[in-house]
Amino acid sequence: MSNTQTIPTISQHNPCISCGACCGYFRVSFYWAEADDAGGLVPASLTEQVNPYMRCMQGTNTKKPRCVNLRGEIGQNVMCSMYENRPSPCREFSQSWEFGEPNEACDRARAAYGLAPLAPPNAEEIASKIATGCHFPG
Ligand code: SF4
Ligand code: SF4
Repeated sequence: MSNTQTIPTISQHNPCISCGACCGYFRVSFYWAEADDAGGLVPASLTEQVNPYMRCMQGTNTKKPRCVNLRGEIGQNVMCSMYENRPSPCREFSQSWEFGEPNEACDRARAAYGLAPLAPPNAEEIASKIATGCHFPG
């Protein structure tokens, strides 16, 4: 896709580049009107109806979720093929320590793929860190 972009985009230190676990763990659901057939950004063709009020990203409403937009291998090298159009849960999901505290959901998703929780950044990393407003589920 033309807007294909590496998930983190800003910081080369962003661990999401080599993770993507949350795109393969949660149901990524959101208010239906975030889709482009209701004036929003998210391509409706890549969503499925959850109920009259909610949609989710295709591929995430299963026992073994994996968003159809996730490219690459989880835990290795990943990117989101619709980064600029991703829904609010993806925009609002923060990696652990992004805002100074752990995110249990991030840790849980990583654990499901055998990945250790992200460690708190050291002082040097804090100084160079740019908050990325990662992505993902709710
Ligand atoms: S937010 Fe957490 S689980 Fe999601 S890709 Fe980033 S590090 Fe992985
Ligand atoms: S950031 Fe959101 S839309 Fe992109 S691959 Fe992950 S779950 Fe899917």
